[in-house]
Amino acid sequence: MTTEVPPRRIPVMLPALGEEEALAAADAVRSGWVAQGPRVAAFEAAFATGVGAAHGVAVSSCTAALHLALISVGVEPGDEVIVPSLSFIATANAVRYVGATSVFADVDLSTGNLTVATVDAVRTSRTRAVIAVHQGGVPFDVAALRDAASRWGLPLIEDAACAAGSTAYGRPVGSGSTISAWSFHPRKLLTTGEGGMLTVDNPEWVARLRRLREHGMNVSAADRHASAQPVLEAYLETAFNYRMTDIQAAIGLVQLGRLEELVTHRRALAARYHELLADIEGLVPVRDPEYGETNFQSFWVLINREYGVGRDEVLAELAATGVSARRGIMAAHLEPAYADVTPAPLPVTERLTRDTLILPLHHALTEDDQNHIVGVLRKLVS
Ligand SMILES: *Cc1c(COP(=O)(O)O)cnc(C)c1O
Repeated sequence: MTTEVPPRRIPVMLPALGEEEALAAADAVRSGWVAQGPRVAAFEAAFATGVGAAHGVAVSSCTAALHLALISVGVEPGDEVIVPSLSFIATANAVRYVGATSVFADVDLSTGNLTVATVDAVRTSRTRAVIAVHQGGVPFDVAALRDAASRWGLPLIEDAACAAGSTAYGRPVGSGSTISAWSFHPRKLLTTGEGGMLTVDNPEWVARLRRLREHGMNVSAADRHASAQPVLEAYLETAFNYRMTDIQAAIGLVQLGRLEELVTHRRALAARYHELLADIEGLVPVRDPEYGETNFQSFWVLINREYGVGRDEVLAELAATGVSARRGIMAAHLEPAYADVTPAPLPVTERLTRDTLILPLHHALTEDDQNHIVGVLRKLVS
């Protein structure tokens, strides 16, 4: 089967970085303060305000953020933590960093997210916490899961790696959350190259989180710098170097200012995909859940049997016609790293990871690109 090849390859994702970000990074370099400093503090404050949380603690990645979140809520070796298998593998790995066991729960077919029922099905007396993911930017039902977690007496950690700019019940994802972890990897909507953030309301956790990311020191480098007197630091516990740099934070501040515009544009492109795909039988694109709005960080399409062609064949045809699509969200329990784990049956997870693909969606995607992509999908089955 051959279709016309467009003049350029259409990437699945493109970081929205421009001259303003480049200038902000250059300013940070010229300031002479490149490690964690004033720009990190400003980025933390602005990000937390934006997502409706009291405090932000910047770190080197979302993976680091998840690790520190698990320590914060008191997870210890031998504990069980319920996570979706249908997630980037970092979600499950973070649980192993603290010596605990990741127990995989199944997800909802339309949102790709944990539900009260799927978590309850694998809950045991050893469950110590739950990590729920706002997968691909699609918010999970925060009202239902936060309520159930508090009834069960379990802390709910929110993996919001993909969810900057998503909302649930009319508020930003992160607002009202016990603790949320965010990613600024270039695959995400808001990027600092690498980077992550924790948002929390509890002030006691904030103090410890700031220590844990900085070798367990009781005073930060910024505090020491600001003090006229020599400050002797103490190292209160064995901790980590999970700091963000001021160069990253300078970029993050610019990106944050553009977030709303980026999300609005993505949502318009997603709506256009919905229109174009509407009359192709057997293709089910991701949509907003009834309680919230996704930032369409990942625009996935579930391929049902009525479409007539399997996912991998579709991916191959897209690749042959200049389109970088991707398989859907991975399932950690199917990877060699988790071969020693036998989870309870995860039928929805396995269906989603087998039968979904992610179509290109980014700020530079054009209507012509979308027409070409959907044209390939239509031609394959006509
Ligand atoms: C990307 C991602 C992570 C990891 O983020 P890093 O910043 O690369 O460590 C964790 N969880 C989910 C759901 C992700 O999509």
